[in-house]
Amino acid sequence: QVKEKGKAHYRFYQSDMNVAFPNFILMESHLRRAIEKEELLIYYQPQVNLATGKIESFEALLRWQNRKFGFVTPSQFIPLAEDTGLIIPIGEWVIENVCEQLSKWRSKGYQSVRVAINISPKQFQQHQLPDIINRLLKKYKLPPDSLEIEITEGAMQDTRTTLTMLNRLKEIGIIISVDDFGTGYSSLNYLKRFPLDILKIDQTFVKEIQQSYKDAAITKTIIHLAHSLGLEVVAEGVEEMEQVEFLLNANCQKAQGFYFSKPVSALEIEEKVLVNQ
Ligand code: C2E
Ligand code: MG
Ligand code: MG
Ligand code: MG
Repeated sequence: QVKEKGKAHYRFYQSDMNVAFPNFILMESHLRRAIEKEELLIYYQPQVNLATGKIESFEALLRWQNRKFGFVTPSQFIPLAEDTGLIIPIGEWVIENVCEQLSKWRSKGYQSVRVAINISPKQFQQHQLPDIINRLLKKYKLPPDSLEIEITEGAMQDTRTTLTMLNRLKEIGIIISVDDFGTGYSSLNYLKRFPLDILKIDQTFVKEIQQSYKDAAITKTIIHLAHSLGLEVVAEGVEEMEQVEFLLNANCQKAQGFYFSKPVSALEIEEKVLVNQ
């Protein structure tokens, strides 16, 4: 057990070594107190319906603002949070914070807003996850389909546990999407067995849609596959107009990326997006 933990940390140390964090213990002790010290916040990135140009939903993206280390990006602290188990309280904080925000927006008349939350593999293995989500939806009086969860293929390793978990989540009525689709190791078999709603095309495919005929082919195929299975499809990492045109031609329904908007604060979403809808 101890050995395994050390190994995980070593991996982290290797891949995410950063001058701002001379060692993971220091970072961990700061992350441990991040919730109570109110250092976490959530940014929202709009997802645009390409045919209508309307913004119908947002992805919630976690941010950590630390006094000592400054603005820490998720790719720096999510792996540590996963390794240490801190992702469980942090993940629950994210769900509650998003639900609270949704209820505020709804009370201001923005009734049809939907928010997608990223769920990490360890969170997804947590047996209580559906109960937590259910409790928070009730507490904030939200319709279940105002909440979407994003799961990566890496979290879907064990088919039986995954199927049970997804069925419990689906029963609640929330929307389920596969994040970074096509970059994991899962087989296509799960597409027919799991109760999914959305495939998110990974940004690595979208990035070179114009330069690489392979990326273009993969993107078109994912869109076609999704539609054939009755799933929605969202393209990630859209930065240029040419990508938008390609995706529109390929019948992709939704997209998100810097071309439309970076992730911004809830206040900015309200003042710049929701008031104009
Ligand atoms: P992701 O879920 O695939 O999120 C997309 C990432 O791409 C975000 O990075 C977003 O800011 C970035 N992005 C959006 N549009 C563009 C674009 O046009 N170009 C480029 N180059 N990048 C774009 P971010 O916010 O740094 O998050 C990184 C990853 O951290 C996320 O990848 C997700 O896996 C994880 N993450 C973020 N928030 C949470 C959270 O609350 N819980 C968990 N478990 N993981 C989270
Ligand atoms: Mg995501
Ligand atoms: Mg993604
Ligand atoms: Mg990612």
